[in-house]
Amino acid sequence: MGKVGETTLFLDLNALEHNFAYLRSKIAPSTKFLGVVKAFAYGSDMVAIAKKLELLGADYLAVAYVIEGVLLRNAGIKTPILVLHPLASNFEEMIDRCLEPSLYSQNILTQFLEAARAKKQVAYPVHIKFNTGLNRLGFKENEIGFIAERLKTSPEAKVVSVFSHLAASEDPNERAFSLNQIDTFKKCSDVLAQKLGYASIRHMLNTSGIINYASEAQFEMVRSGIGLYGYGNDALIDPNLRPVATLKTIISQIHEIGDGETVGYNRAFKTGGTTKTATLPIGHADGIGRQYGKGKASVLINGKEAPLIGNVCMDMIMVDVTGVDCEEGDKVLVFGPQRSAENFASGAGTISYEILTAISQRVKRIVIDH
Ligand SMILES: *Cc1c(COP(=O)(O)O)cnc(C)c1O
Repeated sequence: MGKVGETTLFLDLNALEHNFAYLRSKIAPSTKFLGVVKAFAYGSDMVAIAKKLELLGADYLAVAYVIEGVLLRNAGIKTPILVLHPLASNFEEMIDRCLEPSLYSQNILTQFLEAARAKKQVAYPVHIKFNTGLNRLGFKENEIGFIAERLKTSPEAKVVSVFSHLAASEDPNERAFSLNQIDTFKKCSDVLAQKLGYASIRHMLNTSGIINYASEAQFEMVRSGIGLYGYGNDALIDPNLRPVATLKTIISQIHEIGDGETVGYNRAFKTGGTTKTATLPIGHADGIGRQYGKGKASVLINGKEAPLIGNVCMDMIMVDVTGVDCEEGDKVLVFGPQRSAENFASGAGTISYEILTAISQRVKRIVIDH
């Protein structure tokens, strides 16, 4: 389990390497691979993960916002970086730091071309995002004329890729919808390529897409985030992946509490008999939100389940360790290979993505790479 004297997120880069190889094995060797490292690499350590992915041969990295791309460039990352959700106020900085925008609307396209012109760019790499059914960001099919018109008269930008995003790639019940999205995307990219007079890299699949639609839609590149961090949105896939992040903490104090007493703020937990509780130095300011309190989640102490009791505090949680052989200073596992983040999250009705990205910057990170 590794030593822990305080709440620590251990990041296993060997697991990342394993997951990268597993996901790569699902696609052709010639298909490019984009590693998604937004949100501090899903709450882990963006720079450490990006450096490892660069070493492993990822063709592209993606972040959500320009500020994340800047952090990567400051750390010396040279791999091309796609910014999924740039805003017009960031365009100058983007160009200065060689960050490549996803252009998803007429406004954003027009404003980016203006910025590129002002900065005297030639063939600056841009990515065109199509909305094929997620209805979040992206151009609709009927806007291709506009895109082509603008780009053909704008030598300052070149479309290196066109992409779209599946709305329900993990859900077999939505297969027909996904295949329809794939069809729409094919049509859009064909028409755009024809109008522009050149083809661009096409990409559509996220992690679950790689697992479920590799034969239909891997095109020239795929994009994976959650799979790289060890989760596949599928109990049958998860055993093939290894969680990168392990969150551990320690028992600060143990209490023996009498029958009918209460624990924590708002007296939200009431004992039903003599109860042994442990107080842990991790709370909602560390990413364990209030939704995990009141028994919705549990931690593992010496291999035994210890449910969170009462309300989660800002800096602490209390867990029920009645009948658990443990003492102050013992290690506590919140999630990791032996207790998945998905499992921890599901008790509170959420998903691995949310608990992973919630782990706050206050939590110490230790990177393991050997
Ligand atoms: C976050 C994101 C991904 C990664 O999805 P995973 O399910 O984590 O693999 C891929 N594409 C886009 C557009 C995203 O926003």
